[in-house]
Amino acid sequence: MQEINKTGTLYIVATPIGNLEDITLRAIRILKEVDLIAAEDTRHTLKLLNHLEITKPLISYHRHNEEIKSDVLIQKLKEGNNIALVSDAGTPGICDPGEEIIKRCIQLEINIVPIPGPCAIINSLICSGIDTKEFTFLGFLPLNKKLRKNKLDEINKSNKTIIIYEAPHKLLATLQDLKQVLNQDRKIVLAREITKIHEEFIRENIDNLIARTENIKGEIVLIIEGNNIQEDNELNNLSIEEHYKYYENKGFCKKDIIKQIAKDRNVNKNEIYKQFI
Ligand code: SAM
Repeated sequence: MQEINKTGTLYIVATPIGNLEDITLRAIRILKEVDLIAAEDTRHTLKLLNHLEITKPLISYHRHNEEIKSDVLIQKLKEGNNIALVSDAGTPGICDPGEEIIKRCIQLEINIVPIPGPCAIINSLICSGIDTKEFTFLGFLPLNKKLRKNKLDEINKSNKTIIIYEAPHKLLATLQDLKQVLNQDRKIVLAREITKIHEEFIRENIDNLIARTENIKGEIVLIIEGNNIQEDNELNNLSIEEHYKYYENKGFCKKDIIKQIAKDRNVNKNEIYKQFI
Protein backbone atom coordinates (compact mmCIF):
# COMPACT_ATOMS: atom_id res chain seq x y z
CA MET A 1 0.00 0.00 0.00
CA GLN A 2 1.29 3.46 -0.86
CA GLU A 3 2.20 5.56 2.19
CA ILE A 4 0.17 8.80 2.50
CA ASN A 5 2.41 11.78 3.10
CA LYS A 6 1.06 13.70 6.12
CA THR A 7 1.36 17.49 5.89
CA GLY A 8 3.81 18.96 8.38
CA THR A 9 3.17 21.57 11.07
CA LEU A 10 4.40 25.14 11.18
CA TYR A 11 5.48 26.11 14.71
CA ILE A 12 5.63 29.84 15.47
CA VAL A 13 8.42 29.91 18.03
CA ALA A 14 9.07 32.93 20.26
CA THR A 15 12.75 33.48 21.14
CA PRO A 16 14.41 35.80 23.70
CA ILE A 17 14.30 39.61 23.32
CA GLY A 18 17.64 39.92 25.09
CA ASN A 19 18.30 37.46 27.87
CA LEU A 20 18.96 34.00 26.42
CA GLU A 21 17.60 32.36 29.58
CA ASP A 22 14.14 33.41 28.41
CA ILE A 23 13.84 30.60 25.87
CA THR A 24 11.21 28.10 27.01
CA LEU A 25 11.77 24.36 27.45
CA ARG A 26 9.08 23.74 24.86
CA ALA A 27 10.74 26.10 22.36
CA ILE A 28 14.03 24.22 22.80
CA ARG A 29 12.31 20.88 22.27
CA ILE A 30 10.49 22.08 19.15
CA LEU A 31 13.70 23.59 17.70
CA LYS A 32 15.38 20.22 18.26
CA GLU A 33 12.52 18.19 16.78
CA VAL A 34 11.60 20.08 13.61
CA ASP A 35 13.09 19.24 10.22
CA LEU A 36 13.87 22.85 9.34
CA ILE A 37 14.06 26.30 10.93
CA ALA A 38 12.91 29.35 8.95
CA ALA A 39 14.73 32.37 10.41
CA GLU A 40 14.52 36.12 9.82
CA ASP A 41 18.33 36.31 9.89
CA THR A 42 20.04 32.94 9.72
CA ARG A 43 23.33 34.26 11.18
CA HIS A 44 21.49 35.73 14.14
CA THR A 45 19.53 32.52 14.79
CA LEU A 46 22.68 30.43 14.39
CA LYS A 47 24.10 32.17 17.48
CA LEU A 48 21.02 31.12 19.49
CA LEU A 49 21.19 27.57 18.11
CA ASN A 50 24.91 27.32 18.93
CA HIS A 51 24.14 28.50 22.45
CA LEU A 52 21.49 25.76 22.73
CA GLU A 53 23.76 23.23 20.99
CA ILE A 54 21.18 22.58 18.30
CA THR A 55 22.20 21.77 14.73
CA LYS A 56 19.41 22.13 12.22
CA PRO A 57 19.03 23.19 8.55
CA LEU A 58 18.18 26.90 8.35
CA ILE A 59 16.34 28.79 5.63
CA SER A 60 16.12 32.57 5.50
CA TYR A 61 12.64 34.08 5.77
CA HIS A 62 12.66 37.87 5.99
CA ARG A 63 10.49 40.83 5.02
CA HIS A 64 11.93 41.08 1.50
CA ASN A 65 11.56 37.44 0.50
CA GLU A 66 8.42 36.59 2.49
CA GLU A 67 6.31 35.86 -0.58
CA ILE A 68 8.82 33.70 -2.44
CA LYS A 69 9.99 31.87 0.66
CA SER A 70 6.40 31.23 1.77
CA ASP A 71 5.99 29.14 -1.42
CA VAL A 72 9.12 27.15 -0.57
CA LEU A 73 8.02 26.60 3.02
CA ILE A 74 4.48 25.61 1.99
CA GLN A 75 5.93 23.04 -0.40
CA LYS A 76 8.15 21.64 2.35
CA LEU A 77 5.20 21.48 4.76
CA LYS A 78 3.13 19.68 2.11
CA GLU A 79 5.97 17.17 1.74
CA GLY A 80 5.54 16.38 5.44
CA ASN A 81 8.30 18.50 6.99
CA ASN A 82 7.74 20.18 10.34
CA ILE A 83 9.07 23.74 10.36
CA ALA A 84 9.84 26.21 13.16
CA LEU A 85 9.52 29.88 12.28
CA VAL A 86 11.65 32.25 14.37
CA SER A 87 12.43 35.95 14.14
CA ASP A 88 15.52 37.79 15.38
CA ALA A 89 13.90 38.46 18.74
CA GLY A 90 10.59 37.85 20.42
CA THR A 91 7.41 36.65 18.80
CA PRO A 92 7.29 36.16 15.00
CA GLY A 93 4.47 38.08 13.30
CA ILE A 94 4.65 40.97 15.79
CA CYS A 95 6.42 43.69 13.77
CA ASP A 96 8.42 40.77 12.37
CA PRO A 97 7.94 38.46 9.39
CA GLY A 98 5.40 35.68 9.87
CA GLU A 99 1.98 37.08 8.96
CA GLU A 100 2.23 36.04 5.30
CA ILE A 101 3.08 32.38 5.86
CA ILE A 102 0.57 32.08 8.73
CA LYS A 103 -2.26 33.38 6.51
CA ARG A 104 -1.22 31.05 3.68
CA CYS A 105 -1.16 28.03 6.02
CA ILE A 106 -4.65 28.87 7.29
CA GLN A 107 -5.95 29.09 3.68
CA LEU A 108 -4.35 25.74 2.87
CA GLU A 109 -5.49 24.15 6.14
CA ILE A 110 -1.92 23.47 7.21
CA ASN A 111 -1.56 23.06 10.95
CA ILE A 112 0.02 26.04 12.80
CA VAL A 113 1.02 25.91 16.45
CA PRO A 114 2.13 28.86 18.62
CA ILE A 115 5.09 28.28 20.94
CA PRO A 116 4.67 31.21 23.36
CA GLY A 117 7.49 33.24 24.81
CA PRO A 118 8.92 36.76 25.05
CA CYS A 119 7.29 39.73 23.37
CA ALA A 120 8.31 43.35 24.01
CA ILE A 121 4.69 44.60 24.01
CA ILE A 122 3.56 42.58 27.01
CA ASN A 123 6.74 42.89 29.05
CA SER A 124 6.91 46.66 28.65
CA LEU A 125 3.22 47.01 29.53
CA ILE A 126 3.23 44.87 32.67
CA CYS A 127 6.02 46.91 34.28
CA SER A 128 4.79 50.30 33.06
CA GLY A 129 2.33 50.93 35.86
CA ILE A 130 -0.11 52.15 33.21
CA ASP A 131 -3.57 50.60 32.86
CA THR A 132 -3.31 47.05 31.48
CA LYS A 133 -7.02 46.30 31.22
CA GLU A 134 -7.41 47.60 27.69
CA PHE A 135 -4.64 48.59 25.33
CA THR A 136 -3.92 49.25 21.68
CA PHE A 137 -0.65 48.25 20.04
CA LEU A 138 0.29 50.47 17.10
CA GLY A 139 3.65 48.94 16.14
CA PHE A 140 6.06 51.52 14.69
CA LEU A 141 4.49 54.90 13.84
CA PRO A 142 4.32 55.44 10.07
CA LEU A 143 6.88 57.82 8.52
CA ASN A 144 4.48 59.10 5.86
CA LYS A 145 3.31 62.52 7.10
CA LYS A 146 -0.42 62.02 6.60
CA LEU A 147 -0.54 58.50 8.00
CA ARG A 148 1.60 59.62 10.94
CA LYS A 149 -0.72 62.54 11.66
CA ASN A 150 -3.71 60.15 11.65
CA LYS A 151 -1.97 57.83 14.12
CA LEU A 152 -1.00 60.75 16.37
CA ASP A 153 -4.64 61.91 16.39
CA GLU A 154 -5.70 58.36 17.22
CA ILE A 155 -3.25 58.30 20.15
CA ASN A 156 -4.52 61.65 21.37
CA LYS A 157 -8.15 60.54 21.34
CA SER A 158 -7.69 56.99 22.60
CA ASN A 159 -8.97 56.32 26.09
CA LYS A 160 -7.02 53.05 26.08
CA THR A 161 -3.36 52.56 26.86
CA ILE A 162 -1.27 52.86 23.68
CA ILE A 163 1.89 50.90 23.02
CA ILE A 164 4.34 51.82 20.27
CA TYR A 165 7.72 50.47 19.22
CA GLU A 166 10.47 52.94 18.40
CA ALA A 167 14.05 52.92 17.17
CA PRO A 168 16.48 55.05 19.23
CA HIS A 169 17.46 57.31 16.30
CA LYS A 170 13.79 58.20 15.71
CA LEU A 171 12.88 58.64 19.37
CA LEU A 172 13.34 62.42 19.57
CA ALA A 173 11.19 63.08 16.48
CA THR A 174 8.47 60.78 17.83
CA LEU A 175 8.45 62.39 21.28
CA GLN A 176 8.32 65.86 19.71
CA ASP A 177 5.36 64.79 17.54
CA LEU A 178 3.62 63.30 20.58
CA LYS A 179 4.16 66.52 22.51
CA GLN A 180 2.28 68.38 19.78
CA VAL A 181 -0.88 66.33 20.30
CA LEU A 182 -0.89 64.97 23.82
CA ASN A 183 -2.38 66.60 26.85
CA GLN A 184 0.55 67.55 29.12
CA ASP A 185 -0.82 65.40 31.91
CA ARG A 186 -0.70 62.16 29.90
CA LYS A 187 1.72 59.71 31.49
CA ILE A 188 4.35 58.11 29.27
CA VAL A 189 6.64 55.26 30.20
CA LEU A 190 9.71 54.53 28.13
CA ALA A 191 10.78 50.91 28.49
CA ARG A 192 14.21 50.13 27.10
CA GLU A 193 16.50 47.14 26.78
CA ILE A 194 13.99 44.82 28.46
CA THR A 195 15.65 41.67 29.87
CA LYS A 196 19.12 43.06 29.05
CA ILE A 197 21.86 44.52 31.30
CA HIS A 198 20.68 48.11 30.83
CA GLU A 199 16.97 47.37 31.27
CA GLU A 200 15.22 50.54 32.38
CA PHE A 201 11.69 51.91 32.80
CA ILE A 202 11.69 55.70 32.60
CA ARG A 203 8.54 57.29 33.98
CA GLU A 204 8.69 60.99 33.13
CA ASN A 205 6.53 63.62 31.56
CA ILE A 206 7.11 64.22 27.88
CA ASP A 207 9.28 67.33 28.35
CA ASN A 208 11.66 65.50 30.65
CA LEU A 209 11.78 62.54 28.29
CA ILE A 210 12.68 64.87 25.43
CA ALA A 211 15.41 66.44 27.56
CA ARG A 212 16.87 62.98 28.18
CA THR A 213 16.64 61.51 24.67
CA GLU A 214 20.34 62.02 23.87
CA ASN A 215 21.24 59.52 26.57
CA ILE A 216 18.52 57.03 25.72
CA LYS A 217 19.88 54.18 23.65
CA GLY A 218 18.94 50.61 22.79
CA GLU A 219 15.61 49.03 22.01
CA ILE A 220 12.61 51.07 23.05
CA VAL A 221 8.89 50.72 23.71
CA LEU A 222 6.67 53.68 24.61
CA ILE A 223 3.58 53.11 26.73
CA ILE A 224 1.16 56.02 26.76
CA GLU A 225 -1.66 56.41 29.21
CA GLY A 226 -5.15 56.60 27.69
CA ASN A 227 -6.91 59.93 27.31
CA ASN A 228 -9.23 60.73 30.16
CA ILE A 229 -12.18 61.48 27.88
CA GLN A 230 -14.53 62.05 30.77
CA GLU A 231 -12.35 64.81 32.13
CA ASP A 232 -11.96 66.31 28.66
CA ASN A 233 -15.71 66.32 28.12
CA GLU A 234 -16.22 67.97 31.47
CA LEU A 235 -13.60 70.56 30.61
CA ASN A 236 -15.21 71.26 27.28
CA ASN A 237 -18.48 71.95 29.06
CA LEU A 238 -16.81 74.78 30.96
CA SER A 239 -16.73 78.33 29.67
CA ILE A 240 -13.43 79.25 28.06
CA GLU A 241 -12.54 81.34 31.13
CA GLU A 242 -13.27 78.44 33.48
CA HIS A 243 -11.28 76.12 31.23
CA TYR A 244 -8.38 78.62 31.43
CA LYS A 245 -8.68 78.79 35.21
CA TYR A 246 -8.56 74.97 35.44
CA TYR A 247 -5.10 74.85 33.88
CA GLU A 248 -3.95 78.01 35.64
CA ASN A 249 -4.68 76.31 38.96
CA LYS A 250 -2.55 73.39 37.80
CA GLY A 251 0.36 75.83 37.46
CA PHE A 252 0.53 75.96 33.64
CA CYS A 253 1.92 79.12 31.99
CA LYS A 254 -0.31 81.15 29.64
CA LYS A 255 1.26 79.71 26.46
CA ASP A 256 0.74 76.11 27.61
CA ILE A 257 -2.81 76.81 28.82
CA ILE A 258 -3.79 78.13 25.39
CA LYS A 259 -2.19 75.15 23.67
CA GLN A 260 -3.94 72.77 26.03
CA ILE A 261 -7.38 74.34 25.64
CA ALA A 262 -6.97 74.19 21.85
CA LYS A 263 -6.12 70.48 22.10
CA ASP A 264 -9.03 69.72 24.44
CA ARG A 265 -11.50 71.53 22.19
CA ASN A 266 -9.86 70.36 19.00
CA VAL A 267 -9.59 73.89 17.61
CA ASN A 268 -6.68 75.94 16.29
CA LYS A 269 -4.71 77.54 19.15
CA ASN A 270 -4.84 80.96 17.44
CA GLU A 271 -8.59 80.94 17.97
CA ILE A 272 -8.12 80.49 21.71
CA TYR A 273 -5.22 82.93 21.77
CA LYS A 274 -7.37 85.70 20.27
CA GLN A 275 -9.81 85.39 23.17
CA PHE A 276 -7.09 86.05 25.72
CA ILE A 277 -5.34 89.10 24.30
N1 SAM B 1 8.82 40.49 17.46
C1 SAM B 1 9.34 41.37 18.46
C2 SAM B 1 8.49 41.23 19.74
O1 SAM B 1 7.93 40.16 19.94
O2 SAM B 1 8.42 42.15 20.52
C3 SAM B 1 9.42 42.80 17.96
C4 SAM B 1 10.33 42.98 16.80
S1 SAM B 1 10.42 44.62 16.21
C5 SAM B 1 11.29 44.42 14.69
C6 SAM B 1 11.71 45.30 17.18
C7 SAM B 1 11.19 46.33 18.16
O3 SAM B 1 10.65 45.67 19.30
C8 SAM B 1 12.29 47.24 18.70
O4 SAM B 1 12.52 48.35 17.85
C9 SAM B 1 11.71 47.68 20.03
O5 SAM B 1 10.76 48.70 19.84
C10 SAM B 1 10.97 46.40 20.46
N2 SAM B 1 11.86 45.56 21.28
C11 SAM B 1 12.38 44.35 20.94
N3 SAM B 1 13.16 43.89 21.94
C12 SAM B 1 13.14 44.82 22.92
C13 SAM B 1 13.74 44.92 24.20
N4 SAM B 1 14.54 43.98 24.67
N5 SAM B 1 13.49 46.03 24.94
C14 SAM B 1 12.67 46.99 24.49
N6 SAM B 1 12.08 46.94 23.28
C15 SAM B 1 12.30 45.87 22.52
